[in-house]
Amino acid sequence: MKRTEEEWKKELTPEEYRILREKGTEAPFTGKYYNHKEEGTYTCAGCGTPLFGSESKYESGTGWPSFYKPIGEDKVESWEDRSYGMNRTEVLCSKCGGHLGHVFDDGPRPTGKRYCINSGALKFKKKQEKE
Ligand code: FE
Repeated sequence: MKRTEEEWKKELTPEEYRILREKGTEAPFTGKYYNHKEEGTYTCAGCGTPLFGSESKYESGTGWPSFYKPIGEDKVESWEDRSYGMNRTEVLCSKCGGHLGHVFDDGPRPTGKRYCINSGALKFKKKQEKE
């Protein structure tokens, strides 16, 4: 999906733009989904691709929505992020390249992964609203 930064700016809210396009991070315990427990699907706020299901969401205590796996391995991409003097693995939407958050190796079974995702990079669709 190719969009210019100007087009993204028009399409997204300022907070979505800051996270998805500028790799920003929302403050913990402030996002709309960290404590959200409804059944459904979390889609990319940039392009609408379904990324995470509520069944893989768990309470990590970090203040960000946390999942132990994406809906499909092809939905997200990750790479080593060494910015800010840290060594983290960044998670991006495969389709639009938007920044979602980071993935860590301290998650629960069965995967042991913790996908730590910004609420502002996601949109929630209730189960019955799925097409
Ligand atoms: Fe996307």
